[in-house]
Amino acid sequence: FFSYQDYERPVFAEALSQIDSQSSQQFSWQEAHLTPATAALADGYDAVCAFVNDDLSKEVLEILAEKGVKLVALRCAGFNNVDIPAAEKLGITVVRVPAYSPEAVAEHAITMIMALNRKIHKSWSRVREGNFHLHGLLGFNLYGRVAGLIGLGRIGLALARILQGFGVTVVGYDPGMSDNQIQPFNITPVSLKEIYKTSDIISLHCPLTMHTYHMINDCSISMMQPGVMLINTSRGALIDTPAVIKGLKSGQVGYLGIDVYEQEGDLFFQDLSEEVIQDDVFQRLLTFPNVLVTGHQGFFTREALQAIAGITINNIIEFEQTD
Ligand code: NAD
Repeated sequence: FFSYQDYERPVFAEALSQIDSQSSQQFSWQEAHLTPATAALADGYDAVCAFVNDDLSKEVLEILAEKGVKLVALRCAGFNNVDIPAAEKLGITVVRVPAYSPEAVAEHAITMIMALNRKIHKSWSRVREGNFHLHGLLGFNLYGRVAGLIGLGRIGLALARILQGFGVTVVGYDPGMSDNQIQPFNITPVSLKEIYKTSDIISLHCPLTMHTYHMINDCSISMMQPGVMLINTSRGALIDTPAVIKGLKSGQVGYLGIDVYEQEGDLFFQDLSEEVIQDDVFQRLLTFPNVLVTGHQGFFTREALQAIAGITINNIIEFEQTD
């Protein structure tokens, strides 16, 4: 196991106790953060179980292959940290957990929407100081509002269901789905431009690709409703952060909720380094009272962790059985 986190230990132990004893006896492991310096620790193991912040570059994969590793079992959906062509060339199979709990991330998105709208973070700190004044806490009813979802995959659709429960009209854009596929979910299929122009709340649920990089920029922000609420629980670089800061300053962007940040990189799950703390753009974001930042915790529910552990262990067992 590489980059094993404390919170994973009991969940993986529980998942291992649920498989038959013969299979669970075959599991023994060491723990480390995977880097060129630690890769040789995999000597004698069939698989490495890695995370999004482990180094799976060509250099590391070559060491793993030399030590006899045949499988990289990722405990996450994303695989942008893996040099897939190198793995293929070296005969290392890469498996991952493409879906574990879309509800976890969708529920984090609605939490951000509600907290930003009703200014829960502001009122909580005020109440602790004995201040019960309502000044600056005015919210709006979600009922009757329009939410535009960009990306209607597992998480986008889970959020659409939640929003519809509040009486929100959901419009959506997803180039991977036809209008006929979108309409049964009571979502109106629209163009991106239409999303920008008509939505009170815009929430991003598409992957980061060359087409979606900085899709929220000066130009798209200028098309939005003044005071729009922007939510990003997908990938930080979907948003051009300085452009959104400009929008926050002018009031064009009324609220910003982000669980992911452009510069988080391999700082994911670790204390933010001095570099990010000192980062001017990050610091400027934190000065806005209508901005809420969380540290990539969207997936972090008990049920999601249990699903990740169960699927990862099954992936390893299946590989061992077919190898
Ligand atoms: P998914 O693959 O089920 O859905 C993604 C959807 O985006 C697909 O339907 C696809 O057609 C669509 N899409 C692709 N390009 C698009 C574009 N240019 N514009 C609009 N839509 C586009 O993925 P998912 O499980 O719903 O995850 C969505 C995002 O959430 C991913 O980027 C993932 O990295 C992120 N995520 C974040 C967390 C977290 O903890 N914050 C956890 C899991 C996933």
